[in-house]
Amino acid sequence: MSHIHRRQWMRSGLVALSQFLIGKPLDREAEAETRRGIFDAHLHIPSDNGENFQWHLVTRNMNEFVAYLDKCGVRRGVISSSWSNKAQTPEDYRQGNREVAKYVERYKGRFRGSCVITPFRIDEALREIEDCHRQFGFVWLGEFCNYMTNYRYDTAEWTEVMNLAARLNLVAQIHATAKEMQYLAETFPKTTIVFPHLGGSRDDIFARIDIVAKHKNAYIDLSGSGIERVGILEYAAREIGADRVLYGSDFTINEPSAVLARVQNAFLTTDDREKILFRNVERLLAQAGGRKT
Ligand SMILES: [Zn+2]
Repeated sequence: MSHIHRRQWMRSGLVALSQFLIGKPLDREAEAETRRGIFDAHLHIPSDNGENFQWHLVTRNMNEFVAYLDKCGVRRGVISSSWSNKAQTPEDYRQGNREVAKYVERYKGRFRGSCVITPFRIDEALREIEDCHRQFGFVWLGEFCNYMTNYRYDTAEWTEVMNLAARLNLVAQIHATAKEMQYLAETFPKTTIVFPHLGGSRDDIFARIDIVAKHKNAYIDLSGSGIERVGILEYAAREIGADRVLYGSDFTINEPSAVLARVQNAFLTTDDREKILFRNVERLLAQAGGRKT
């Protein structure tokens, strides 16, 4: 290597290193690779029974759902059924979970399925979690939304759900208030819990990030309120660590590319950005299901 070449080589190495450290935009190749990897940890599919969380319907069926994700550049994701969330009977959530399995199969490699139950008839709920795991290979539970059918997380029944999740090594994604998050993260340290949403108000956002930061079994996904506050993602990555922050959108309710824009523009290293966009959820899914070592 000539003197000049060596100088050029050293300079380009230093530029790459400084870009890596301050989170500069990626070069084109790395950017294309990152885009291909984007994995949404929080998707609700439009249900075959017409149930759809979207406030004014524009993506009514699975074809339109997938086409919209394509438009946003979301290549993969965890899907759950709104039919299961709104279940009035165990038969409702069984139908919802089976439509999820059907679409996981139809769009091979694109989606991972998630099982949703309500805890009212707990024996049937526990059986359904086991069935989804054994028959369909689901390793993800939720998003559980207790406010939709009015149940609590601080009950004997919910303790059984959390203990089964720990025993089968399943990830549980739980919509919760800050108070409920504190209870769940603390009471069930052996269960891996993903809490969606950074938070509504300023106090709520800092409280929720603080709870996740303090509990190693807890993760946060970026869907819903809070991500639009510039700087909060950087704060979450610093306080919690980028290893426990996941990209999620809550589509069909919310816009996937709005969250993506903030992640892309954020002051993060390339490495941390990739962790948030897909590496963390890939790791969680790969480690779930098997026996804990
Ligand atoms: Zn949701």
